[in-house]
Amino acid sequence: MSAAQPSNQTGNLWTEAGVQHSMLVAQVAPDVPVDRVYTFAIPKEFSEQINPGQRVTIPWGRRDRQVEGYCLSIDQVPWTNTLKPILGLVDDASYFNGVLLELGHWMSRYYACPLGRTLDALIPSAVQQQSGYRTVRMLSSAKPLAEILANQPRIGPKQRALLEYLDAKEVPVLLRTALSDLGAAASTATSAARRGWVEISEERRASATTDFDLPRDEPIFELTQEQAQAFDSISKMMDERSFQVGLLFGVSGSGKTEVYVRAMRKVLAKGQQAIMLVPEIALTTQLVQRLACRFEHVAVIHSGLTNVQRSLIWSEIAAGKREVIIGTRSAVFAPCPNLGSIVVDEEQEGSFKNLQAPRYHVRDVAIKRGQLENIPVLLGSATPSLESWINCDRSAHYHRFELTKRALAQPMPTVEIVDMANEKLEGHPLASRLLQKRLSETLSRKEQAMVLLNRRGFSNWLACSSCRRRIVCAQCSGSMVYHASGNVIVCHYCSRRDPAPSHCPVLGCGHKLNAIGSGTQRAEELLQRWFPDKRIVRADSDTMKHRRLYKQLIDEFSGGQIDILVGTQMIAKGLDFPNVTCVGVIGGDAAGASTDFRAGERLFQLITQVAGRAGRAHKQGSVVVQSMSPNAPALIAAMNHDYPAFVERELALRKKFGYPHFSRLTIIIAADRREEKVRSQIEGM
Ligand code: ADP
Ligand code: ZN
Repeated sequence: MSAAQPSNQTGNLWTEAGVQHSMLVAQVAPDVPVDRVYTFAIPKEFSEQINPGQRVTIPWGRRDRQVEGYCLSIDQVPWTNTLKPILGLVDDASYFNGVLLELGHWMSRYYACPLGRTLDALIPSAVQQQSGYRTVRMLSSAKPLAEILANQPRIGPKQRALLEYLDAKEVPVLLRTALSDLGAAASTATSAARRGWVEISEERRASATTDFDLPRDEPIFELTQEQAQAFDSISKMMDERSFQVGLLFGVSGSGKTEVYVRAMRKVLAKGQQAIMLVPEIALTTQLVQRLACRFEHVAVIHSGLTNVQRSLIWSEIAAGKREVIIGTRSAVFAPCPNLGSIVVDEEQEGSFKNLQAPRYHVRDVAIKRGQLENIPVLLGSATPSLESWINCDRSAHYHRFELTKRALAQPMPTVEIVDMANEKLEGHPLASRLLQKRLSETLSRKEQAMVLLNRRGFSNWLACSSCRRRIVCAQCSGSMVYHASGNVIVCHYCSRRDPAPSHCPVLGCGHKLNAIGSGTQRAEELLQRWFPDKRIVRADSDTMKHRRLYKQLIDEFSGGQIDILVGTQMIAKGLDFPNVTCVGVIGGDAAGASTDFRAGERLFQLITQVAGRAGRAHKQGSVVVQSMSPNAPALIAAMNHDYPAFVERELALRKKFGYPHFSRLTIIIAADRREEKVRSQIEGM
């Protein structure tokens, strides 16, 4: 744009006499830990390209260091020379639409995180780096060949060959291809360009494809009566096109997935897009596969994507080419141009909470986005969070839909609770006799089992980082188990208890001690001793470092090559194995996490979820829960599959102690090597 031309979008910048009397400025949130917005002048050369949401570079600090920031808005103001100018534009286009920008503002305030930092978290870094695109140079003719030849009869043979080549092609060609086809040097093209015969331009191209190879498989069944009823009400909600939150409360196996699929199809039929959020772990599992294959233009966003794929998918979503976006946390920020609904499966899931600043909860962000977009949001769970449950009673925006029966009319599994204090006394500290009995019944029927360790209250051995020796009991030479809570080591044979040492006690060694091994490892060893001829496989974060391994394990387990799968919670979620009829839970205690007011809720969720894994097909399932506190109300309620009873009691407790939802709770963490500094920091707040 030349200086005298007024810009249409921004109004007259210049008077006719060419005297400047107003200017454009941008409000910028710098991507530094400072929660303020600053005003910068927009130099003329950027005035046409700059948009709200775009990243810019700005001078920062006394030394004018260059930092990035987000342009929030653009205004015209009376001319002043007191403002520093924006130094450059980082992105060609904005990654935000108005709603996402507003969502960022809300998150920044609600989660107390500087705006620049918050906005930065809304866009995957692969997208910011524009991975997946490369810039290619294109060559095209600038003038008809005949015209050039008429004016320049004496033209070099190499240049002539190039011009004839382009003349034959008619459309721009890759510079690289043209040169290699002709065996010419780059200088041939550049000198032809200098003379105005050809044009060299740059173009951004995607360098990979994002297509998934998904089998199409459409289950054909009628909705059950309950499903149909719930879907009917949900359809009405979807049709109203206004902000509402539906909570689909359905026991495990009740067929919530089918309801989500149909609800999303309603949205697509209107030409809108739908986002479905699933918890972290489920992504590698069947659920996503089962879901994804039900839609045509689906994007699955998961941790296994390469940067290139991630970045390309993001731009395809922004271009409206993907109708359904399935993913974990970051998918809630998918830049859908015409979003129709957001579905949050397993809305109570802990992995929906982002553990870095901004420390947002995806469900809450989804609901806020729904409000800003004025669209319905559908939450689903067998064990809704208390927050969502109460909201249904309190807020006119919330509606509850229930599925009380399993889709295939299977009975709920029986849940048995074992008092581990008793078992310990009788010499079975890790796994009970009842569990052994149920497992052996299951295996003899050629069915499969899962044994799950609740990580809470469970712990590791301490071993030397150098000599690798384990700390053993001074009294009986058993392995001492490390308990992080209380920082003690405990002998699980004779119950001796010592403060945890930090360094190897072996004479002449003295290296640092590390926590190794895990409860799952010990459980695996024990089960193998019980059933020596069965195939027992352990799945925890030690053995499942790669997605590939995890997938292989899932395949082997569904193929029946594994008899017992032992693992942490990671195996409890979203999996559907029809031949699993027995599930054992080791460490079904809320204790050890007593500082967390949600401990009871988590335990209830865990047991219910686990129970949901047993007997999914037509076989009766059986669950054995081992606990040191077998009378805990959360356990009893889980045993009876009685969510309302659990909620009622839990709510009364929360009210009594003033916990959320009856209050708001924030954790403030101050860390420093010097105690005085931490103290003064906290006291100064
Ligand atoms: P949830 O997510 O509520 O635990 P799922 O959606 O995984 O339950 O469904 C449980 C099982 O029931 C799946 O195998 C699914 O294919 C099956 N199912 C769901 N709805 C129906 C239906 N209407 N008729 C027959 N089978 C169904
Ligand atoms: Zn001992």
